[in-house]
Amino acid sequence: MLSKTFRNPIDVWPAALVMTLLAALLVIYFYVDNIWLMVVLSLLLLPARLSVVGYNHNHIHCMTFVEQPPNRLLEIMMFFETGTTPFSGTLNHIVGHHAHYFEPELDTLNWRRADGSRMGHHEFSLKAALWHYPSCWPLSRDRPALRNKFIVYSALCALLLAALIVHKPLAGIVVFAAPMLLMLYMLKYAAYAHHSGLPIGDDFTGSRTHTGKFYNWITWNNGYHAAHHVRQALHWTELPALHAELAQRIPDELQGERWGSQFAGARMPHPSDT
Ligand SMILES: [Zn+2]
Repeated sequence: MLSKTFRNPIDVWPAALVMTLLAALLVIYFYVDNIWLMVVLSLLLLPARLSVVGYNHNHIHCMTFVEQPPNRLLEIMMFFETGTTPFSGTLNHIVGHHAHYFEPELDTLNWRRADGSRMGHHEFSLKAALWHYPSCWPLSRDRPALRNKFIVYSALCALLLAALIVHKPLAGIVVFAAPMLLMLYMLKYAAYAHHSGLPIGDDFTGSRTHTGKFYNWITWNNGYHAAHHVRQALHWTELPALHAELAQRIPDELQGERWGSQFAGARMPHPSDT
């Protein structure tokens, strides 16, 4: 049964997380009227949202369900948790980042300023988050089918979100709109840790790999970033094994159980900084 529904049966777990989280958010939205309780409950669910942000990235590379309608339904549910609409990630991330991360002028996660220096963490996250949706237009110029699907599903998601805000404005903003914008920001914030300050070269020196258990548990193995760039369509459960194969080719300072010194290094002056 599961193997006929899911491309990989283990994905029943993240799918269950997505559904449970949305159910919890809707219960808060419809039944909690005390604003402070609403804020506290919404804050408590932020870690679950972050986990869905990680899974959403995996899903756009390697779809969860065998059939497309449940994939679209899952993506619409994830929109209310992560702020990214169906196909916006496909365009912004797969077309705009994976295909171009060695071409800074085209990369949607380009951390370099116009003069070549490195942006700050928040500067990058804000710019990349603001560019998420506008980027889908030029990136879909030669992909009319993808553009149409992006427009249709984004319009549907925007309408549903607008209905929630019109029906209960405060709850719509506290439980949905504000955390969704925060998650879009956090998506880009995580990308800075993966790539900022690293040279244009190959998949082994172009990103950082976080091998920590907790990070990879909560993000569904999104720490194995170099392995992900080597085989972007590989299922998330297979990334640790691929990383083990590739580890010797990745510099020591770009892999470890925490961002630790590698991440601290990303904040230090870099030869490209001016
Ligand atoms: Zn990716």
